[in-house]
This record gives sequence, C-alpha cells and structure tokens, in this order.
Amino acid sequence: MTSNNAEFERAKRVLVGGVNSAVRAFRAVGGTPRFIARAEGAYMWDVEGERYVDYVGSWGPMIVGHNHPQVLERVRAAAADGLSFGAPNVMETDLAERICALFPQVERVRFTSSGTEAAMSALRLARGFTGRDKIVKFEGCYHGTADSLLVKAGSGALAFGTPSSAGVPGDLARHTLVASFNDLASVQALFDAHGEDIACVMIEPLPGNMNLIKPAPGFLQGLRTLCTQHGALLIFDEVMSGFRVALGGAQQVVGVTPDLSAFGKVIGGGMPVGAIGGPADVMERMAPLGPVYQAGTLSGNPIAMSAGIATLELISAPGFFQDLEARCARLIDGLNRIAADRGVAFCAQHVGGMCGMYFLETPPDSYGAVMQQDVERFKRFFHAMLDGGIYLPPSPVEAFFFSSAHGDAEIDLTLEQADRAMRQAVAA
Ligand SMILES: *Cc1c(COP(=O)(O)O)cnc(C)c1O
Repeated sequence: MTSNNAEFERAKRVLVGGVNSAVRAFRAVGGTPRFIARAEGAYMWDVEGERYVDYVGSWGPMIVGHNHPQVLERVRAAAADGLSFGAPNVMETDLAERICALFPQVERVRFTSSGTEAAMSALRLARGFTGRDKIVKFEGCYHGTADSLLVKAGSGALAFGTPSSAGVPGDLARHTLVASFNDLASVQALFDAHGEDIACVMIEPLPGNMNLIKPAPGFLQGLRTLCTQHGALLIFDEVMSGFRVALGGAQQVVGVTPDLSAFGKVIGGGMPVGAIGGPADVMERMAPLGPVYQAGTLSGNPIAMSAGIATLELISAPGFFQDLEARCARLIDGLNRIAADRGVAFCAQHVGGMCGMYFLETPPDSYGAVMQQDVERFKRFFHAMLDGGIYLPPSPVEAFFFSSAHGDAEIDLTLEQADRAMRQAVAA
C-alpha cells in the first residue's frame, strides 16, 4: 500500500507544490496533506485507509454529504447520454429555473465552470453596464483569482489598491479600491472621493474566506443605499454562502437584495459550476445579446448541471435547513462548552451549514480581528484533530462546513476528539 508521504513526494515532482490549489498543501499548518482515495456521506478515506469525519466538504459544495445516492444516480444517467455537447441542453434551463425561483431578483442566469469565472464575469458586466472602471472590494474577502480581485489595500487612507499577487499589473490594481468589512464609513469615503467612477461594490455578504464573519446590523443595508445613490451595482459573491446558509443564500438571511449575485460550490454539487444571476436589463448586456463578452467551452456542462439539480432538489426538501441548522448548532454549542469548561480562549459560530472556529475569546468582526488568533494553538489543534480522524480546513482563516450527512454519531466523535485536541493545543 502507498502512503500520504510517498504520494506527496511523487506529486511534488510533477505538480507545483504537489497540489492544484494552494491551501491544500498544508503550508499554513505544516505536515503532509492527506491524499484522499474515497469519500461517502460525512467521511473521507485517505490512501492509507484512514477514515476522517470531513468538515471541508470540498470547501463547501458537499452540503448533502459525499456521494449522495440521488446525486450519483443523476450524474450516472447524464453521463450515459454524453459528457459534453458544446450546444444547448435542457439541464441548463432546469437548473437556471430553480435559481430564478429561489432568488426573486434573478431573472437571467449565466453558468460558468468556476466561482472565479462567475466573479470575474460579474465584474466585467458591472463595468460594461455602468461604463465605469473602478470597483470596491473588502479586505479579507475572496472572490477567486481574477486579476482585479487579487488586490489589497494600498498604504494610507483612500490609497489605490496594490496587487496581492505577483503578476497583477499595478495599473490594473489601481482600479480596485479596498474598504474594510463592517466599516461603512470606509466605503462612504471611497464613494465621496470616486463616486462617479465606481462600477460596483463586490462583497461576500457572509464572508467565509477570512474564516466566518457576520455582517454588523445595517452594514449591508448601508452598502445597498450607497450603491443606489451613486448608480453603482451591488454584487453579492454568494459562491460559498449561496444555498448553504439558507436556501436563498445570505441575501435571504440578511434581507438585502443585490443587483448581481455570483454563485458556485453548492450549485455544482461537487462538479465544476459557477453562475451569475441578476435582472434581465443588466444580464442582457452580456453576449450574445449585449457587448460584454463572456463564454466557456464547458459552461452548462450536462453532468455538472445534473449534479447541481439533484443537490438543489435535496436541499429544497421541507425542513432540510431546519434540520441542518439544529444539528450544526449542537456541534457548535458542544465546541463552545468544551472551551468554556477548559478555560480556553476559543469560540465557534455558524450560519446554516457554514461554520467558523477561532482561537479568540469572541467571534471576530473584521479581518484585523481574525488575524489576532493564536495561530500556533490552531496548528496544534488541527493536527490533534486530524490524528483523531477529524478533517478540518488546514488554515485558521477558512470557514468549515457541515452537511446533512453529519449525524449524532459524527458530532459525538468530533466533540470527543475536540476535547482531547483542545487540551493538547493549550498544553504546549
Ligand atoms: C470559492 C470561492 C470563489 C472561487 O470559486 P472557485 O470555484 O474556486 O473558482 C469565489 N468567491 C467565494 C466567496 C468563494 O468562496
């Protein structure tokens, strides 16, 4: 039998860093990534045959658990009819109809093959629609790897953004203005200075890429008002939160309606899917009806659409989110109780099936607060959990994910291991 170590060494000889997406390489926690051989329900097994309760869920998509029989059946049936056509198929319409029914302002949908493409295309659409170049994003929010979005705050208030990755031209980053999450004044200041030039404000309404952070009351409403006043589009990146915190996404939870929404993850049910949705007058500025170019060879792929349709069917069942919410709450309450009993500066919270844990006294409300975490404790906790068969995201700034396949047995096992891991984390 092979081992994770042997497979990592082999992978590193042909794949950059041994992986195809940076966070998988365990650089934030150290050690050897697990090479997963198989997954079912709430569990994954690595190439050494070790079993893990999975709280990554492919970074969000697997809300009904791995390999749900109904999803698998749909995918198999679709695959039998052909893998890709490069021509319209009715599954695209079926999935789009479901999305339009769940999101009142979404009248038209465009599918892509990733969340990155959805966010990138939403930006281009906003710029094409408004005829403006500048965009506003928030420190700590992640929208995939499009050049304009790999930008961090420059130095000094109101400074233009600077690239957060090599290879992004400064001239492009200049058009990205960076505000602070939960700080409406920081956005107001950008509109005061550049209001005429701002095409859109893009935000994760419930961020999960600086761990889970909740919006302060009135913050998203304030963004809505500012965008409307200045003729800018409000774009909610719901690639992670959509269909995960509630059937109608974060916008349903917070009661704020964006102009455009970006989706991904759950809508593909584990297959590569992204989507942009919005009102017809904005969306129809896109090709083939409008001048904003957008296309994709595998967009609307029939297998991927089938996985998405089956997943949306399952999560649309009456009571699905109430059940998920209640079981997830038991896990979160249990984690908080362990921390309280042991006197550890640790807390956890969740919205629907999207969860955060932090080595902090209270849940963070900003990127700055998340970065105050005791990272060394997290690393020890992560490895102690992994050794105990619990697979958490290998980074202190990522959310973790719960699924309908996580039952009482998995929660009990997780809490038992967390009690041990927390003692180990604080002992050093
Ligand atoms: C995952 C994610 C993306 C990028 O999606 P990919 O499918 O990885 O390209 C964009 N935005 C948010 C909020 C995400 O969580």
